[in-house]
Amino acid sequence: MDYFEPKTIGEALTLLARYGEQAKVIAGGTDVMVDIKYKDEPACLINIKRIPGMDQIRENGGGLRIGPLVTIRALETSGLVRERLPLLWESCHQFASLQIRNTATIGGNVCRASPSGETLAPLLVLEAKAKLAFASGETTEPFTAFFEGPGKSKAGAKGLLTEIDVLYPAAGSRGVYLKHAVRGAMDIAMVGVAVLVTPDAAKNSLQDVRIGLGAVAPTPVRAAETEALLRGKSLTAGLVKEAAAKAAAEARPISDQRSSAEYRRWIVAALTRRGLEQTWKAATGKEVVQ
Ligand SMILES: Cc1cc2nc3c(=O)[nH]c(=O)nc-3n(C[C@H](O)[C@H](O)[C@H](O)COP(=O)(O)OP(=O)(O)OC[C@H]3O[C@@H](n4cnc5c(N)ncnc54)[C@H](O)[C@@H]3O)c2cc1C
Repeated sequence: MDYFEPKTIGEALTLLARYGEQAKVIAGGTDVMVDIKYKDEPACLINIKRIPGMDQIRENGGGLRIGPLVTIRALETSGLVRERLPLLWESCHQFASLQIRNTATIGGNVCRASPSGETLAPLLVLEAKAKLAFASGETTEPFTAFFEGPGKSKAGAKGLLTEIDVLYPAAGSRGVYLKHAVRGAMDIAMVGVAVLVTPDAAKNSLQDVRIGLGAVAPTPVRAAETEALLRGKSLTAGLVKEAAAKAAAEARPISDQRSSAEYRRWIVAALTRRGLEQTWKAATGKEVVQ
């Protein structure tokens, strides 16, 4: 195997262009090393960890710019992330073990493009954007259009994720990330649900609501029909029940070693209901009307 440690994004892109499908980028290696051991060994490994400046979290006016080499642990221990993007923080807090969080990067989580990737549903509801570099130039992709299938993303074989831009949610918004797994944070999510709500000024109705579903479709997805059902309305127990059922219907889960599709749908409904109740109460100070 050819092994490289480029010192600049340009050097990495030249290598990616030269080796194409034969090359594999490695960051923390928590996915790549497992693949090398149990699946395929790439002809060329490009370790991007020596490229300076990609492991920073920077405040950018109304949001954060997160470098792809920022580890999950660095996000979890960042006061800025915890205070301003608690939804993303929660997904990092519930991510694997401390050892994995110390090594795994957010860029690796995103570029792995696993439907169950912990940070993905939060990035979808936060309407974050990915900056990608190719030998031909740079592009910016919203995460809502970034994922193309299990293991497939807009980065492709020749792109490098160079930054994640996340705007702070509107004032008064509240979010939650709920993960269902057999062994809690130690296990990959069977289902992950991210909910972000923004109440109107009088705190009587939902000005905006965003729901992201993880591990229940070929890519992480927004529950668009459920969001449309809820937008502009006040939360009642009946509406929450209807929304939970709609979110379960919008999911397209498969049965695998972690769960049956039927059970996953049931969990989507339960977590959507819980997420809506929790965020409504946190945002308005009111219980859902029975
Ligand atoms: C024991 C264990 C437990 C785990 N638990 C969880 C869990 O609870 N939740 C979860 O979501 N994941 C979990 N994972 C999966 C893994 O840890 C995450 O996906 C992690 O974020 C990957 O980051 P990394 O830096 O290690 O990526 P790497 O393994 O280095 O790379 C992952 C993929 O991304 C590509 N890549 C990395 N960086 C870039 C970049 N900047 N540009 C383009 N492509 C890039 C690589 O080529 C590769 O395809 C677990 C893994 C293990 C081994």
